Amino acid sequence: MASQHPCVIVVGAQWGDEGKGKVVDLLAGHFAWIARYQGGHNAGHTVVIAGKKYVLQLIPCGILRGQSNAVIGNGVVIDPQALVDEIATLEQAGIAVAGKLFVSNRAHVILPYHRMIELAAESAPGRIKIGTTSRGIGPAYEDKMGRRGLRVHDLYDPRLLRVHINNALAEKNAVAGALYHSQPLDAGIIVETALALAERIRPYVADTALLLNQAAARGEAILLEGAQGALLDIDHGTYPFVTSSSTTAGGACIGTGLAPTRITAAVGVSKAYCTRVGGGPFPTEIEGAQADELRQRGNEFGSVTGRPRRVGWFDAPLLRYAALLNGLESLIITKLDVLDTLKHIPVCVGYRLNGSGNAGQPTDAIPPAAAAWDRLEPIYETVPGWQCSTEGITRESDLPPRARDYLKFLGRASKLDIGMISTGPERDQTITVPGSRLQALLEQTHHARAV
Ligand code: GDP
Repeated sequence: MASQHPCVIVVGAQWGDEGKGKVVDLLAGHFAWIARYQGGHNAGHTVVIAGKKYVLQLIPCGILRGQSNAVIGNGVVIDPQALVDEIATLEQAGIAVAGKLFVSNRAHVILPYHRMIELAAESAPGRIKIGTTSRGIGPAYEDKMGRRGLRVHDLYDPRLLRVHINNALAEKNAVAGALYHSQPLDAGIIVETALALAERIRPYVADTALLLNQAAARGEAILLEGAQGALLDIDHGTYPFVTSSSTTAGGACIGTGLAPTRITAAVGVSKAYCTRVGGGPFPTEIEGAQADELRQRGNEFGSVTGRPRRVGWFDAPLLRYAALLNGLESLIITKLDVLDTLKHIPVCVGYRLNGSGNAGQPTDAIPPAAAAWDRLEPIYETVPGWQCSTEGITRESDLPPRARDYLKFLGRASKLDIGMISTGPERDQTITVPGSRLQALLEQTHHARAV
């Protein structure tokens, strides 16, 4: 049973870039608190408001609304320079940050040596290219798990900071120099820069786990926002082609400190087709002219790196897997309009497992080894396209019948209730499906008083 003021987790149900930015921005008005729980400044949510594009990499995009408090949870790794830059960009755009942004004192800090190590390691001969954004996020998580990390609260202890950075850098310089011939970094410069940046972020630093649990106890509605997507989860994704944190719903509690018993529901976001950035398994990937068309129409180029994204068809077995891992209550489909020109739309409804005496056996099991994905053959069903514009449609009943049929097909194939459909990048280019579970959930939310 949902509580009166829900705590809702929004996760990407694919490999990231599902359009969570727009969705969270849209839902934000219903929630007093929006909290990011993992990732770093590689996420790159894009939100378009009145024709103006905002790319937020660290600060939850809920802050754009001005009504909600925005939290950067302990599970996020923070590059203080990136945070300071993002705060400045928002302030210049006239968006209030003071008193609205809370940064966890327990979040780990990305330092220049993390970037050095990542850049050097990714380009080393013989390394599997994961396709990272080279912003030091992976190495910062490595230090966190290796219990050698530096946390936000440590920035306010100059003696500890100096000792920590000196010791860490001696090791990182030695490793990067010996293995990758990197130029050594200077500890003094890193310490002075970190101390100066620490002062700039001091007004925002707080015990955010305490704030969120107190807010939940007062009955305020909380939205927990994931970055990347379920299939990039460090444990459950397509390892090793994954990100360094827990993107799935379980990670939301760990990455914010909000107690699991407070969570009301998890909502998944998926494109009407599929994309992925970087290497790794992608069963429904397509290439050639049709891929180019999808990529162009969907503007499928990374919002942080500009890299062209790999594109393919909607993959229902992956959605069912994401639904299982996250306990998805409801599904939001984005970028329906991108498919407007297609005559036929293939949808992957299952997999066949080939090889090892399993020729052609249908399966729903997701293999643990990336190499085993080559043996999965997608089973497609083709749905007729609608071949007219759905761009900007705001009512389900105004959609062309074939677009409605396509959505029904996706809902059936993924065994999920579709609660919202996005028909363009702008906030108002959205349909909330009447009678859906998501609509019922949102009706329970009240925009409660902010702290
Ligand atoms: P996120 O990281 O999950 O927020 O995804 P990105 O921001 O990387 O990618 C989403 C992109 O698609 C952004 O450029 C959005 O403005 C855009 N977008 C979101 N929803 C829609 C939609 O329904 N239609 C179209 N055409 N673009 C959309």
